[in-house]
Amino acid sequence: MSENCRKHFHRISEYLDGELDERICAEIERHLKDCPRCRDCIDSLRDTIRLCREGSEEEVSDDFRTRLRASLRECMEGR
Ligand SMILES: [Zn+2]
Repeated sequence: MSENCRKHFHRISEYLDGELDERICAEIERHLKDCPRCRDCIDSLRDTIRLCREGSEEEVSDDFRTRLRASLRECMEGR
């Protein structure tokens, strides 16, 4: 995984901790568009990004969070 990809993964991880703003979300989304590898890897993250973009007030469930963290880790370790 490239440094650039890694950077975005870290940001997504920050989002899970509730530290991501809309602007960063847009950046991540843009990266996903340009990067097939990340896209494949983190299919499940798309829902997260959408949630963020829509500025949803909804709390992300623990289950969802746990699943996403697992995907992130798998991707970053290069499977
Ligand atoms: Zn990437």
